[in-house]
Amino acid sequence: MKFNTKTIHAGRKPCQLTGAISTPIYQTSTFVFDDVGEPGEYDYSRTNNPTRKALEDTLADLEGGVAGFAFPSGMAAVTTVIHLLSAGDHVVCADDTYGGTHRLFSDIMPRFGIEFSFIRLDDEAKLRNAIKPNTKMIWVETPSNPLLNITDLDMISKVAKEQDILTVADNTFATPYFLRPIEHGIDIVLHSTTKYLNGHCDVIGGGVITSTNKLAEDVHFLLNGMGTNAAPFDSWLVLRGIKTLPLRMDKHQANAIAVAEYLKGHSKVKEVFYPGLPEHPGHELAAKQMDGFGGVVSFKLKSESDVPSFLHGLDLFHLAESLGGADSLVEHAATMSHASMAEDARRKAGITDDLIRLSIGLEDADDLIEDLSRGFDNAGNIKG
Ligand code: PLP
Repeated sequence: MKFNTKTIHAGRKPCQLTGAISTPIYQTSTFVFDDVGEPGEYDYSRTNNPTRKALEDTLADLEGGVAGFAFPSGMAAVTTVIHLLSAGDHVVCADDTYGGTHRLFSDIMPRFGIEFSFIRLDDEAKLRNAIKPNTKMIWVETPSNPLLNITDLDMISKVAKEQDILTVADNTFATPYFLRPIEHGIDIVLHSTTKYLNGHCDVIGGGVITSTNKLAEDVHFLLNGMGTNAAPFDSWLVLRGIKTLPLRMDKHQANAIAVAEYLKGHSKVKEVFYPGLPEHPGHELAAKQMDGFGGVVSFKLKSESDVPSFLHGLDLFHLAESLGGADSLVEHAATMSHASMAEDARRKAGITDDLIRLSIGLEDADDLIEDLSRGFDNAGNIKG
């Protein structure tokens, strides 16, 4: 089955009871047992739920994994996966992950004895150098948030497999439409389904897809044991969003290319970050590894002091965190999505105060460019 067909049919069948084409929302906490000691297919919704299962099977199919799991947020998915490790283990993590992931790994998990090294994962020798005898996991985000760095997944999985280290790829930005990390040897794929998979800015959710049955067993044990299960209605919203994923991703990307080209030529712009631009350092790798470049574009203004007035001048782009929805959003990473990162770690990763991230929505590209030009016209205006 081709990918576009899978987004409609994978993991779902019309309801056997009523024929309903839309997956029913099983809004129930519990299920009646067949007999003493004999549960039916489902017993309790934390452990499993038919609506959640439809989403989980869909995620597994789209990513080419053996099993999927749905969480109440992307961070719940991250938290659950990191609990595959134990005190004394070490993780090599990309230095430019989402700020919330960075906060969990630098300020919370070390309290439980897990150690992290944050490095730019752009070089095999650098990765090998960072690996210690107790390294148990490598954590990658590609394209990364917010700088759109591209990591070579074949290289990461080759090095990891030699040393029996688990690999996790956060595939939120690319989605399985543009990248399937398991095809590159990655063990676990993770999503904030809040973003493109849902696609409408109306749910918070997370997903994990495993490449083996053993990992599936371990993740489900944690999800059930820690209670990090997605709700039925939230699962249904993500399922509904997935049906239009390819159409949306193509439009996000077409708009993003137009916006990136526009920004590139603008006199008030210092640097544009979009892997679809031939001059992006990860362009060649992205073109080889991915089927598309996605819908997020970041850029730096020449003058840092223009940031507030530029943002105030925008009308269509709303100032908001998150990304991947139909509405275009703009954010200032240093004070918003990545504010929870320590300032020195943020600067070291290149997330400077002049950086602006755009989530390019599904509007007409001409209107988006016109809106950005309003922002630039206002940039530097002392009234802000
Ligand atoms: N991973 C990435 C790449 C993200 O951008 C985010 C949120 O922005 C998360 C994980 C966390 O997801 P959530 O906000 O759904 O908890």
